[in-house]
This record gives sequence, structure tokens and C-alpha cells, in this order.
Amino acid sequence: MSESKRVLLAEPRGYCAGVDRAVETVERALDKHGAPVYVRKEIVHNRHVVETLSDRGAVFVGETDEVPEGAIVVFSAHGVSPEVHRTAAARSLKTIDATCPLVTKVHQEAKRFARDDYDILLIGHEGHEEVEGTAGEAPEHIQLVDGPDSVDKVSVRDESKVIWLSQTTLSVDETMETVKRLREKFPQLADPPSDDICYATQNRQVAVKAMAPHCDLVIVVGSTNSSNSVRLVEVAVQNGASAGHLVDYAREIDPAWLEGVNTVGVTSGASVPEVLVRGVLDYLAERGYDSVETVNTAEETLTFALPRELRPARTAR
Ligand code: SF4
Repeated sequence: MSESKRVLLAEPRGYCAGVDRAVETVERALDKHGAPVYVRKEIVHNRHVVETLSDRGAVFVGETDEVPEGAIVVFSAHGVSPEVHRTAAARSLKTIDATCPLVTKVHQEAKRFARDDYDILLIGHEGHEEVEGTAGEAPEHIQLVDGPDSVDKVSVRDESKVIWLSQTTLSVDETMETVKRLREKFPQLADPPSDDICYATQNRQVAVKAMAPHCDLVIVVGSTNSSNSVRLVEVAVQNGASAGHLVDYAREIDPAWLEGVNTVGVTSGASVPEVLVRGVLDYLAERGYDSVETVNTAEETLTFALPRELRPARTAR
């Protein structure tokens, strides 16, 4: 290991296509309709993003019944259950749905396998908004499996009709461990038609895995309620980093973390604006970590169109 101080910067990191779209959805809704625009739950799990949009006139609420009748409400990137759509319709709310298309894909899978009368084992974190939204598509068919240790509790009606699906932002390795245990219990367990853990979550974990063995410390920029950001800290430590910490802002870095540290790895969760990573790099540069090498493991080019209500109108020819 080099004796001089340096930073390894993971690439890809930060905003994914779904977050980019969700944040722009609220910004465009504010431009088009003016404040206030109501948003059910945090649009994405990042403190800075939520505070910045609040300053512009977004009003974040826990549930649609807190939104005045007839007002505009944006649904967050994590998705909502059909029940939330029904409540919003009953209150005549004008809804703009910023659910990430990759979360919608998991909803579609849940509906399809429920229609075919499967027992669906949804691997995910209890209480996470995305899991609540997906499970709400077919509550009578879906059971939550919160990690490998919950497998013992699972029981199904017909072992030949069982499928697993997952939250989009899990640790790939831990999910595969859960699937392995489920398959030991239910050998006929079917796999999802395609990966539910999204490309962005996977890519950020792969970059951290490549970087971690060379790092004395990995700093992940992200909020504590951001599932994919928390997973990045776990992946860093499990793959050889001597220590890993999650911070929302550079000011949360404890100088003691840097004692005896030569190589600091830096990355950020999928809901984190790059300006916050720049803040961490500046903080480190001021303390002698001014050489920055990028560890690049994938190129990302995916983008999603804005919700229909916010796309520019086509001009007639
Ligand atoms: S982390 Fe993945 S599923 Fe979540 S918003 Fe980003 S692209 Fe979509």
C-alpha cells in the first residue's frame, strides 16, 4: 500500500436515472404550477435534496390525507401501493407519479405472479417505503423476507408455486445468501424474470468492491434512511476496507477517522448530488489527501423520460 495520502473515488457513484427523474419531476412541477407542490414521503432518501426542494416550495407529507383536496401531489421514486392511488383519487388530488420505472417493473412482476396464484417471497427491509408499495399490489400473495435469518419463518401453500422478488436497493451478496437459504427450504423456488436489484445499486456495489481492498477507510456520502447508501458501507467493510462510515455532509467526518489512514475511498449513494461528494473531496484535500484516482468499473448511460404530465407539449406542424 502506498505510504502517501491519496483518495480512491468510485465510479459510478451518485445519482441514478430514477433519482434524477424524480428530483427533476418536483422541480418541473414547481416551475409549471408554482408552490406549493405536495410530495408524499421524501422524493428520494437524501436530506440535502429534500431540504433544497423544501426551500423552493415543495411540501413533504407523510400521507395523502395531509394534502388539501384538489391539490397537486407527487409520489416518490420508491413507488406507492394501489391503496395510495385510491386515497388520492377519493380526495381529487392531481397526482404526478415519480416512481422509478425499475420499481414499477417489480410491481408488474408482483401483479403477474399473484394473478397466477404464486406465493411471492419479497426480499427486502421491513418498513421501507418501496417494500410497502410493492407488497400493497398483492398483500394476500406476498410475504416479506427480511434477510437470511427470516427464512425459517416462511411458509407457503404450494411448494411448486413459489417465486422470490426483491427490493431494488439491496446488497447483491446478502440477497443471494437469502435466496440460497430459501431454495434449501423450497427447492422449486422460481427466480424473477430479470434482476430486481437495479443496475445502479449493482454498479455502485461493484465499484466499491474493487476499491475497498486498497482502502484504510471508505466514506460513503448518503443519508441513514437510504438503503443503497447503507449497503455501500457494508459492502466496503465486507470486502476489505478497514473501516467505513456514512455521512450526509463533509462536516460530519470525524477527524479521528483519518488517524494513520493513507488511502481513503469515497463513493455516494444513488440519491446523492455530486456537490456533496465535492465537499468531502475538498475536506480531504485540506488534510493532505489531494491526490485523487478514479476506480471505474462501469459506464452508465440510462435515462428515463419525465412523467407524461411534465413532458413538453409537442408543437403542431
Ligand atoms: S436506485 Fe435503482 S430503483 Fe432506485 S431510483 Fe435509482 S435506478 Fe430506480
